[in-house]
Amino acid sequence: MKILVLNCGSSTVKYQLLEMPAGDVLAKGNVERIGESEGILTHKTADGKKIVLNEVFPTHADGLRRVFDLLKDGVIKDISEIKAVGHRVVHGGEKLTKTCLVTDQIIKDIDDVYPLDPLHVPAHVLGLNVAKELLPGIPNVAVFDTSFHQTIPEYAYLYAIPYDLYTQEHIRRYGAHGTSHQFVARRMAQLLGKDIKDLNIITCHLGSGSSITAVRGGESVDTSMGLTPLEGLCMGTRCGDIDPAVLTYLGRTKGLNADQLDELINKKSGLLGLSQKSNDCRVLEEGVEQGDPASIRAMNVFNYRIVKYIGAYAMVLGRVDAIVFTAGIGENSPYVRAEVCKHLGLLGVDIDPEANDCHGKERKLSTPASKVDVWVIPTNEELAIAQQTYELVNA
Ligand code: AMP
Repeated sequence: MKILVLNCGSSTVKYQLLEMPAGDVLAKGNVERIGESEGILTHKTADGKKIVLNEVFPTHADGLRRVFDLLKDGVIKDISEIKAVGHRVVHGGEKLTKTCLVTDQIIKDIDDVYPLDPLHVPAHVLGLNVAKELLPGIPNVAVFDTSFHQTIPEYAYLYAIPYDLYTQEHIRRYGAHGTSHQFVARRMAQLLGKDIKDLNIITCHLGSGSSITAVRGGESVDTSMGLTPLEGLCMGTRCGDIDPAVLTYLGRTKGLNADQLDELINKKSGLLGLSQKSNDCRVLEEGVEQGDPASIRAMNVFNYRIVKYIGAYAMVLGRVDAIVFTAGIGENSPYVRAEVCKHLGLLGVDIDPEANDCHGKERKLSTPASKVDVWVIPTNEELAIAQQTYELVNA
C-alpha cells in the first residue's frame, strides 16, 4: 500500500512516498520557496536518481502537482496508486490528542489551534485542503507531534500560574517532537529485546529544535518543551528556559513589544545569540576546536542544559535503563554526546569513545560496564507517520 507523507510549512512541502507496511521509501523530496520569485523542487528516488527543478511555485498546490508529475515518471503509473496521505501536524492542542482520520471538522479543530501555534497551523490547514483537492476520495490522516505527550501527568503539564489560564486559555505544557521521541523509544526497546512496558528511557532529540523526554513504560511522563516549542534546552536560535521576568524587564526597560520579544527569544537567541556567530552546531564545534571563546561559551550552555534535564528526568523516572540520542545533532555530533555523557557518572553511564565516533548510524555507545544503555538511534518521523497512517486506515 503506497502512502504519501506530507509535512507542510509556510513556504515548503516535504514529502515521502512509502510502500507500507514494509516501510520502503519509493521517493522523497521537498518543494521550497513556494510563493517566491523562484522555487526549488528536489526529488530523489529509491534507485538513486536526483532531480532538482528551479521553477516558480505560486502555491502549495502547484508544488504538489509538480511532485505528482515526477512521481508518475517512473515511481508510479498513476496517482490513484497512492492509497492514503499522512500529514505531520505540529500542534494538536488539548482536543486533538490522537492520530485521526481527517474530516472537515478535524480541519476546523486544527485551525482552532492557531493561537497556540501561529507558525505552523496555517500551513498544515493549507496542506490538508490541497491533499483533499488533488487526491480526492482517499483517506487523509493527521499525526500530531503533541499526541505522545498526552500521558504527562497534571502536576508536570501545569504551570504554576492562575489555574483559570489553564481552564480558559489552555495554557499548559504540550511538548513537541512526540512522533520522534515515541519512534526512538520503541526502537530502543526492540534493540534491547525487551517489552517497552518494562523500560525507563530518556530520549534526547537534538536538532535545530531540541527536546528531551522521560519515557516510562512506553509513555511520555515529562518533556522539556512547553506550551510552544520554545521551553527547555538551548537550541539553534531559541533560548529555551529563561526567567519569565527577563521579558517583562526588557518590555519595561527597552520598550520591546510582544512581537519583538517573540523574535528575540525564538530567532535571535540560543546558539546564535550566545555565540553571535552561528546557529549551526557544526560551525561552533569547529570554533571549539580552534579555541574560539564565543563558540566555547555557546556550546557549554548547550551541553550543560542537556545534562541538567537528563539529571532531572533520571529523578522523575527513578531508574534509567537507556538514553537515546537522535536528530541532526544527536545523531551526528560525537563531541556533544561525549560532553554530555562525561557528566552522567552518577547514573553509571560509561561510553566507548570509539563507538561514539559515528555519524547518523544506529549504534550502541555504552560499554559493557555502563549501568545505562546509551545509543544513537536515527529518528524517522516520516516512517512513524506512515506506520500510524497505515494502522489507522487498515483498522
Ligand atoms: P535537524 O533539525 O534534526 O535537521 O538538525 C539540524 C542541525 O543538526 C543543524 O543545525 C546542525 O547544527 C546539526 N548537525 C548536522 N550535522 C552535524 C554534524 N555532523 N555535527 C554536528 N552537528 C550537526
